[in-house]
Amino acid sequence: MDINNDSYLITGGYGFIGSSLLRILLKDNQTVCNIDKLTYSSNINALEGLEKSNKYTFYKEDVCNEKKIYEIINKHKPNKIIHLAAETHVDRSIDNPSNFIKSNIFGTYSLLNSSYKYWNSLVSEQKQNFRVLIVSTDEVYGSLEKEEESFKENSPYKPNSPYSASKASSDHLARAWFKTYNLPVIITNTSNNFGPWQFPEKLIPLTILKCINNEKIPIYGNGEQIRDWIFVDDHSNGILSVIKNGEIGEKYNISSQNELMNIDVVKNICSILDKICPLDRGKYDELIEYVEDRPGHDKRYALGNDKIKGINWKPNMQWIEGLELTIKWYLDNNEFLNSYSGERQGRS
Ligand code: NAD
Repeated sequence: MDINNDSYLITGGYGFIGSSLLRILLKDNQTVCNIDKLTYSSNINALEGLEKSNKYTFYKEDVCNEKKIYEIINKHKPNKIIHLAAETHVDRSIDNPSNFIKSNIFGTYSLLNSSYKYWNSLVSEQKQNFRVLIVSTDEVYGSLEKEEESFKENSPYKPNSPYSASKASSDHLARAWFKTYNLPVIITNTSNNFGPWQFPEKLIPLTILKCINNEKIPIYGNGEQIRDWIFVDDHSNGILSVIKNGEIGEKYNISSQNELMNIDVVKNICSILDKICPLDRGKYDELIEYVEDRPGHDKRYALGNDKIKGINWKPNMQWIEGLELTIKWYLDNNEFLNSYSGERQGRS
């Protein structure tokens, strides 16, 4: 991908998706400043040595600290701001919504306000080159029935969990800062990401963890919930295409249109592990255990990607190829996988 010599400010860059984005930018020798509070889901090793670049700066900071965020923006003078910092686990949002309200709603407000204050101080040409991209989720659109069409950018918002409601609020704030203050904001909504460095409480790394520890793999309800899976680096490249080629004030869905039932995701993982790391006795799918469903569990997400394909982006990774690569990464990084000792079930 051809990325111009921009200066990036990323929030949440030590998280799963943020670190994928940072690896792509730093390998391309771009100037990047990362702001991350370093919550439980972050990993400071995830830049794989690229943090040594003299074009990289890191601030351990809460995005809600508006004064500090403004100071950092004003010091580094980025022309591209990409906001990923958030609380992200649906189950945690059900148990304890308050952190989600703070980081995902107040955090976005703080980032928008600081960006606006900085943008307002720029001269006309710099203003034109400035973008704020807010990374969001397909979960803001609610749940689909099997026969319904995929979500489009103009689908109504119907969030069902505290997590998705907080992300929907964040999207609404971003839209308002564009409409009211003309801040050059773009929103991207993506589907379920998979790949290396994802904290092992989400469906794919949790399933791998359970398999290699020979433990029961919990499946919510009947396991027939459908999710739309995209490889994390495809998503990151999509973000970069949108910030470069997308129109301000617009929304772009980023997906691979790869719908799978949760139970099939788990069975795919089991059969890959049967091949590359067979059990002494039996098959991995014998570990599957159906457990009580999550309250308000969305049935199906499916995200149309026609609009982003129109601005010169397409996903590259095939599902099984990406899943094999992901599983091998987790097997090679067993320590990372085992850093999680809780008893959570896999979300999707
Ligand atoms: P993650 O949980 O792996 O990482 C989140 C990062 O944000 C962490 O490094 C954490 O330390 C940081 N963070 C959290 N609260 C912060 C705060 N108040 N101030 C500063 N930093 C803070 O999440 P992820 O999966 O990488 O998700 C990144 C973004 O993408 C989120 O906005 C999420 O809603 C969105 N998203 C993720 C997925 C997915 O499948 N992972 C799908 C759709 C949308």
